[in-house]
Amino acid sequence: MIPKELAQKVLAEALKTGADLAEIYVEDVVSLGLGMDDSRLERAVRGADRGAGVRVFFGNLVTYAFTDVLDESSLMNAARAAASAGSGSSKTPIIDLTERKSPLSYPLEKPFETMSIQDKADLLARMDSAARAYNPLITQVSAGYTELRRHMWLYNSEGVQVEDDRFFTEMRAGVVARRNGTLQQIREGFGGRVGLELLDRNDAISKIQEMAESAVRMLDARPCPAGDMAVVMCNGWGGVLFHEACGHQMEADFITKGSSAYAGKIGQQVANPILTAVDDGTIPGRRGSLKFDDDGTPAQRTVLIENGILKEYMWDIVEARRVGRSGSTGNGRRESYRHMPMPRMTNTFIDQGQHDPQEIIESVKKGIYVKSMAGGQADIAKGDFVFNATEAYLIEDGKLTAPVRGATVFGNGPKVLLEIDMIGNDLALDPGMGMCGKGQAARVSVGQPTVRIPIVTVGGTDDSVGGMSA
Ligand SMILES: [Zn+2]
Repeated sequence: MIPKELAQKVLAEALKTGADLAEIYVEDVVSLGLGMDDSRLERAVRGADRGAGVRVFFGNLVTYAFTDVLDESSLMNAARAAASAGSGSSKTPIIDLTERKSPLSYPLEKPFETMSIQDKADLLARMDSAARAYNPLITQVSAGYTELRRHMWLYNSEGVQVEDDRFFTEMRAGVVARRNGTLQQIREGFGGRVGLELLDRNDAISKIQEMAESAVRMLDARPCPAGDMAVVMCNGWGGVLFHEACGHQMEADFITKGSSAYAGKIGQQVANPILTAVDDGTIPGRRGSLKFDDDGTPAQRTVLIENGILKEYMWDIVEARRVGRSGSTGNGRRESYRHMPMPRMTNTFIDQGQHDPQEIIESVKKGIYVKSMAGGQADIAKGDFVFNATEAYLIEDGKLTAPVRGATVFGNGPKVLLEIDMIGNDLALDPGMGMCGKGQAARVSVGQPTVRIPIVTVGGTDDSVGGMSA
């Protein structure tokens, strides 16, 4: 953090040319990344980065300057640079900064230093041997560990002073099973806004063994049939489809540009009445959880769609100011102090439904059940998507039968949302591995119960798929 008097001085400088709002964002990041590939520790990187950005608002014109030096002259220079877009003048007000506390708490039970780097690397080595020992058909294994502390402070000329000290622990793994010319890759991970208690709550060894089992089972998979059919999507990570193909279009920048299918649709039916969808930045332990967003707005729970009716978009302060909305929904997020915030999802999910997941599968005469999927691709502005299933099964006469390879699901998010006609009572959030890319990287969670899309286009491909982006 920076001393209060310095923050006041920098904000006053930033306001000198007539701005109506100025802000300082300070960040201090430390991280450790370990990566094991083919039984060798290939990566061990300690990272440290700190800096600050000064953002200045002249109505809807927003300017930004940042520095990686936190002394007075660098901060004052950043303030002058950001303010140089202004041509007016204003009396320098006395800014009374008052620290605001969040009622939210994301406790860190086991700090990173309660386990040595060597023990962390040993865990990766044990994951590697456990996957290989599971079956000789497992020919490639990778495992990774990341710990990250991102501490932010924000001061603005409205007197706001907040901080959010964010800790994340993440585990990732990949296994490849190979038999003759057939190859099957599975990549998964788990993590959250938590400390090393993550490793007590999740057994990394049995997780990678389950992945190895899935990869070997999928070697026997037959090619996926192509055509229009029912698709049942798994709970948890299946929610990436909603995130990519619908959620981005509810981010306010796409709305104010008018490029989203949901622009102007508040109060209208955009989904089956059984569907409710939520963005909630306040869930304990989740990757997208915040005390304050990177605009300094308290995190909140926002119902996006309620019983099929579009209720709200996800706002940051820039877009809220653009349309004269009072306050944002706490969705302003930035990758680092080198970036200006933009509207982003936090933890986004389709809410609990009424159906027993077994009943959903039993309702399908011919279709596929997608148990695990890679991120795939979506045109986030239009919602057209292509998702690749890494693990999928045929549904024949209401029963899960053969595993199928290369299942690819095509469609359009807003259209699919109207079509989803069964929603399970098994809401789950993903295991905690989602990284959203929208020009800037952001940790997010996705989730849903089991859902049924009665008719969607399925294709087959033999390309290997991977990736866990959201
Ligand atoms: Zn995304």
